[in-house]
Amino acid sequence: METEIISKLKELSKISNELDLPEEIRTTLTQEVINYTNNFINKLSTVRAFTDKSANNLAIDNNKKSISHLLNLYQKEVVETGINAASGTHLGYIPGGGIYTAALADFIAAITNPFASVYYASPGAATIENEVVNWIKAVFSFPKNSVGSLLSGGSSSTLVAITAARDKHKIKNEKILKSVVYLSEQVHHSSQKALRILGLEDIIIRYIPLDEFHRIKPNALETQIKKDIDAGLYPFLIIATAGTTDTGAIDPLNDIANIAQQYKIWFHVDAAYGGFFILTSKKEKFNGIERADSLIVDPHKALFLPYGIGAVLIKDKDAVLHSNHYTANYMQDGFSEELVQSPSNLSPELTKHFRGLRMWLPLQIHGIEPFKACLEEKLLLLNYFRNKLLSLGFKVGPEPDLSVSYFWYPFKENQEEKNKQLMDAIHEDGSVFLSSSTINTQFVIRIAILAFRTKKETVDKAITMIERCLKKIN
Ligand SMILES: *Cc1c(COP(=O)(O)O)cnc(C)c1O
Repeated sequence: METEIISKLKELSKISNELDLPEEIRTTLTQEVINYTNNFINKLSTVRAFTDKSANNLAIDNNKKSISHLLNLYQKEVVETGINAASGTHLGYIPGGGIYTAALADFIAAITNPFASVYYASPGAATIENEVVNWIKAVFSFPKNSVGSLLSGGSSSTLVAITAARDKHKIKNEKILKSVVYLSEQVHHSSQKALRILGLEDIIIRYIPLDEFHRIKPNALETQIKKDIDAGLYPFLIIATAGTTDTGAIDPLNDIANIAQQYKIWFHVDAAYGGFFILTSKKEKFNGIERADSLIVDPHKALFLPYGIGAVLIKDKDAVLHSNHYTANYMQDGFSEELVQSPSNLSPELTKHFRGLRMWLPLQIHGIEPFKACLEEKLLLLNYFRNKLLSLGFKVGPEPDLSVSYFWYPFKENQEEKNKQLMDAIHEDGSVFLSSSTINTQFVIRIAILAFRTKKETVDKAITMIERCLKKIN
């Protein structure tokens, strides 16, 4: 019997050993991947930004394939379809890029695989997660006793923030129907989505009028709150944005903080795109952000990290623990530690990607200066882009607070239709990627300058492309 088990184990081990590669094969595989990624980076400034093509041949058939075959497949079906988001020519949606040192961190994190969510399991990894959160707290002047966590992005971070707001204000059952949330038309849709996911779909949503720069008007906000209180409703949450996705606007945060404080309303700031511009000459526009009850910011946007890292900061620790801290018998070995030391007590995730390292390592290697310079550069590039567009006869949106703006061509007739044709021509051209939006019911083309690889040459290339496409329409 025992010899049978032993011989079976030998047999299985021979096969399963393939998962634990010997150094020689590790080195060969890694070298192929490094060659591939070096080639990818070297060609970035010349390849297309966008290819409107579907992806095929990616189904898993359980047969073995070589890494070189798979890298070829990846190149064709992933890199050469859709938007090249690592390229500086990605000027649509909200780009970022994905810096190399963060990729190295992911490599190290995946190989060492520490359990970052529980302090007891990996004091070091949990501390790195916490130090990254501490760094973000310092950037936004949040108090030391506030809490935070690193999630997959802005949308999941918003869920954690609004859950805390909901629990703090005990918005449940029939109270939902009488509770009011105050938003801007320019709020990112992840906020409304969060309300639905969190069981607050039936809450009352008020869209507050905006000024000509697409910012919330504080007077209009206060008037609406007073009206709602008089009507017996319960104002519970104000969502302001520091850097709107479509217009790059920062709501008047300090004025809104005053109102939130006076009426005891939870003040949430969505700084997913714009938050890190607080490190630039635009710092003053963020005055009041430190007064928010909760804040989200996306390091995979304005810190140029690869996709998959957002952050949330929340002042009221107990509100966060209410829904995220839970005990179980199989977790008893770590019971004695301080709750906020373990990321798992502050977010819905237990086992998670050790994403703190992909922010910690770049900040430690590069320091902060290159990040600041890169953001300052993006602000100037947007200015440069808008001036070039004006000189070509385009109309541009109001001066934005940050690095997102929009434009359209004042065609004599069929203006809307012809701007749509221009957008299609730009997408077909594909050398630089721009996306469109609708602002005040008007079709416009957006420019979002944020990728770390976007340079003056990129903007010149975009302008040449736009001129070329415009000729096709006129
Ligand atoms: C991108 C963005 C979000 C959503 O973040 P994800 O990381 O895409 O989930 C939320 N708010 C604003 C203002 C954004 O720009």
